[in-house]
Amino acid sequence: MHKTIAFIGAGNMASAIFGGMLDGGYPAESIIATSPDDTLLATLRERHGIRTHTDNATAVNEADVVVLAVKPQIMRQVCEPLREAVQARKPLIVSVAAGLEATTLEGWLGGELALIRCMPNTPSLVGAGAAGLYANPRVDAEQRELAGELLSAVGLVEWVAEEALLDAVTAVSGSGPAYFFLFFEAMEEAGVNLGLPRETARRLALQTGFGAASMALRSEHDPAQLKRNVMSPQGSTERAIQYFEDAELRHIVDGAMQACAARAREMA
Ligand code: NAD
Repeated sequence: MHKTIAFIGAGNMASAIFGGMLDGGYPAESIIATSPDDTLLATLRERHGIRTHTDNATAVNEADVVVLAVKPQIMRQVCEPLREAVQARKPLIVSVAAGLEATTLEGWLGGELALIRCMPNTPSLVGAGAAGLYANPRVDAEQRELAGELLSAVGLVEWVAEEALLDAVTAVSGSGPAYFFLFFEAMEEAGVNLGLPRETARRLALQTGFGAASMALRSEHDPAQLKRNVMSPQGSTERAIQYFEDAELRHIVDGAMQACAARAREMA
């Protein structure tokens, strides 16, 4: 018997997750999505065969798991009216909202609950996400497993033992796609400076990033070893890597990620 999962907010992140679950064979009748937008809900019913409600409390009343997937700015106004339904039913709460602490959410939902915070990233929208998950002490093993299954529908899932580590997850994978986009931009520009047509430089840079990640994910060697494998002594790759090292790329990356995590802490 599949657990009923209610997505409060049926936008990009929610539809990526339930889309992935449906592709993996999760039954459509066990998924509910809510939104004030009737037209959106009609499209979702038609496209995916899932159930929908415009009233969030009605969805909570039927759910074993409630996924909070509205924008953080409106989370409070969405959660407070759900207090009664949530406290009566005590479903597992999974929040994908950036920056909202577990105790803040529990407060808005009227008291202690089994709650999992998830920090996903945008590649989840193409099934290649990387998410960090934190479970509060009230979450049991079965609920953990279910949440892991849910989020692995859109990519890699890594658990962290302390909530504060979600700021580090934000710095690595939450904001990480933007670092790579910056690097791709820079590689494209440098390729153009070396005489390649822009589109050619872009495609080569993107495919190289994809290829390097695919190779590293499959390899028994760590990235440091894989890098050494590509560098022949006195060769052209070695020249480029030496340039990065002399320019203190590692120090720049560390500084950028410290700044990211500090900002994530500030915003919580
Ligand atoms: P979105 O705007 O695509 O989706 C939000 C949905 O909430 C919309 O469909 C809207 O109709 C619905 N909504 C608005 N008011 C509502 C209400 N009162 N009741 C129920 N539903 C309501 O946003 P998104 O990008 O899917 O982001 C959702 C959450 O996911 C956010 O909290 C965000 O921090 C988190 N997140 C998203 C990404 C991403 O890649 N998109 C990455 C990390 C975290």
